[in-house]
Amino acid sequence: MENQHNKECVFCKRDDQQVPLVQLSYQSTAYWICPQHIPILIHEPSKLQGMLPGAEKMQAG
Ligand SMILES: [Zn+2]
Repeated sequence: MENQHNKECVFCKRDDQQVPLVQLSYQSTAYWICPQHIPILIHEPSKLQGMLPGAEKMQAG
């Protein structure tokens, strides 16, 4: 993977010293998210607008 975002939750910006982080791959870029915010990615991805490119176009499944 060519691009890698900072190793911190895209939502709350905590790093892996504070919370466990799960890596995401999106548009060839690696992102990280903590377990607390995975439900937002799943259910309310539009809340990630400005944090993930194009998040406002994602639709909750
Ligand atoms: Zn988080």
